[in-house]
Amino acid sequence: MDNEMTLIFPSKGPNVAFARTAVVAFLLPLDPTVLELNDIRTAVSEAVTNAIIHGYGNKTGTITLRCTLRERRIVITVSDTGAGISDVQKAREPLFTTRPAEGCGLGFTVMESFMDKLTVTSRVGEGTQVRMEKELTGQREEEEEGERDDE
Ligand code: ATP
Ligand code: MG
Repeated sequence: MDNEMTLIFPSKGPNVAFARTAVVAFLLPLDPTVLELNDIRTAVSEAVTNAIIHGYGNKTGTITLRCTLRERRIVITVSDTGAGISDVQKAREPLFTTRPAEGCGLGFTVMESFMDKLTVTSRVGEGTQVRMEKELTGQREEEEEGERDDE
């Protein structure tokens, strides 16, 4: 199934939960596994939290979340027009953080390991775009068919 959606919302704390839940709801018709949903939920939370905390800091700005589905491949982009990142390669290193009092520097590491592919593009003063891809398996469908066969 091909499908797409775009959400535009302000960089406010409660919208982290809103964004991840919206993505989960968008994917439910595909019957993803619980594991897949948890991975995607966590990755979306990390990306949106970064946009709020690092992108906009004390200000409130706009975050755009876009999901594109081609067959069982989901592409999620989280974009802000905030501070931007001066060295993306360094920012993606495990344990690198510019806010040691609050963060552990593991957000990008989590996104990278939970998703199939992570691309980060950023310009200082212009903003950041985080693009994540994941191919969903058909596992849950098969499991349920297996259970039905056992009945
Ligand atoms: P954690 O996610 O573990 O709480 P963290 O947010 O510092 O800590 P990462 O999510 O890996 O760690 O991000 C690493 C660094 O990249 C951040 O400290 C910040 O400097 C920069 N960064 C990440 N996302 C953005 C963004 N949207 N805008 C500006 N800077 C960002
Ligand atoms: Mg983070």
